[in-house]
Amino acid sequence: MSIEIRIGLEIHCQLTKLNSKLFCPCNSDYRDMKPNTNICPICIGLPGTLPRINKKAIEYAAMISVALGCNIPEKIAFDRKNYFYPDLPKNFQITQYESYGNDTCLGKNGLVKYDEEKEVRIRRIQLEEDPGRLVYENVNTSKSYTLIDYNRSGIALVEIVTEPDFKDPKEVRIFLNKMSSILEHLNVCNTSLEGSVRCDANISIGQGKKVEIKNVGSFKDVEKALTYEITRQKTMNLHDIEVKAETRHWDDKRKTTKGARSKEGEEDYRYFQEPDIPIITLTDLQNKLNMPELPDERRLRFIKNYGLSQHVSQVLINNKIFADLFEESIEIYNSPKSVSNWIVSDLMGLVDTETLDKKIKTGEIKINAKHIAELAKIVDSNLINRNSGKDILMKIIKTGELPSEIIQEGKILKIQDKDEILEIVEKVFEIEKNAVFDSQKNPNAANFLLGKVMQLTKGKADPKLSLDLIKKKLERY
Ligand code: ZN
Ligand code: MN
Repeated sequence: MSIEIRIGLEIHCQLTKLNSKLFCPCNSDYRDMKPNTNICPICIGLPGTLPRINKKAIEYAAMISVALGCNIPEKIAFDRKNYFYPDLPKNFQITQYESYGNDTCLGKNGLVKYDEEKEVRIRRIQLEEDPGRLVYENVNTSKSYTLIDYNRSGIALVEIVTEPDFKDPKEVRIFLNKMSSILEHLNVCNTSLEGSVRCDANISIGQGKKVEIKNVGSFKDVEKALTYEITRQKTMNLHDIEVKAETRHWDDKRKTTKGARSKEGEEDYRYFQEPDIPIITLTDLQNKLNMPELPDERRLRFIKNYGLSQHVSQVLINNKIFADLFEESIEIYNSPKSVSNWIVSDLMGLVDTETLDKKIKTGEIKINAKHIAELAKIVDSNLINRNSGKDILMKIIKTGELPSEIIQEGKILKIQDKDEILEIVEKVFEIEKNAVFDSQKNPNAANFLLGKVMQLTKGKADPKLSLDLIKKKLERY
């Protein structure tokens, strides 16, 4: 008999597309700044300061809420979560808590479908502030110390809490992929930025206690952390060791979890309503939101309008940057099948998708729609064969050159000698007698024969010269 596994998630996502922090005018883009330069009296919690809510943050959080099938309440309120920790200069975090029996957070009772027929319930969605960052120096030495950087303090975060509906780590990974894509499509969060999406997971096995795994800094490590934790707990069960309710930290370097502290109860945080922010009425906000096309709709449109398969459209949609690249490319060269094929089978295969996505965004890999469109077109028209196309793709993702430039510069084409090509053309005429006989009726015969020349030369023959020679020879038939 298999033991029941229940996994729930708490996802924190920074609203990186905002201009400013949640309660002050400091920049929301704190990365690569000198420590403690992106701060003001509000976000370092000086006495006498008052928070001022960023309206756009409420709008973005509401969009996430709607996209995940939640209901937005009429009124929202904020609460203080009290705890003492150096990254939290006020000694409390402004967040939203399910208090007073009201629905005062930004969303409740959502539902997300993923992996075709699976579903996860969304318990709640709340808006809160990010704490500062602790930087540990000289770890594990006698000279160890900790620095605090408040540049991140007060960045707008949306916390998404799911019900424990996942049965295994793989489901979690597929769901988180979808979640990334939703956040990207909403254009509220650049998920490829370091630390912009973080995930805590809670897991219980059989009758065992709930264990929380914190500190997982990227979506891709969540599956690893959960797999490790399942093995750990099952081993304990085998040896009749009780699994304690506790919080464990994910150790990113050793890829294990380690005990951190026994878990506080919610009551330890002494929540109470934030007196410095009034209750906010969101009159009909749900209908006023400007919702973009979401991954599910977009996938169906790809299938319907472009005739792509379920699988190919899913792979493209999983990562907005590839879905966009696809649509921009077919604007230039309208051949959805071959364009999608170049992206899904070749481009994504060349480099690990996760880093490729990041590298395209940062411009480290210089590929855009023009490259893909040109490549697909050149290969479709038999100017070069597919293998040479792949060689070109490998080159251009590093250099950013256009495929046509590479061909013109002769970097791929080596055979430009007329006699050598004529020899190959004659060979093709010999092999493809039927096509040659058909050439009077079939206007594509020349192209077909050119394709064969390219095949024989592994794409190395000069296509223009070859076509000329083929046409001349055909005229004589
Ligand atoms: Zn500030
Ligand atoms: Mn939180």
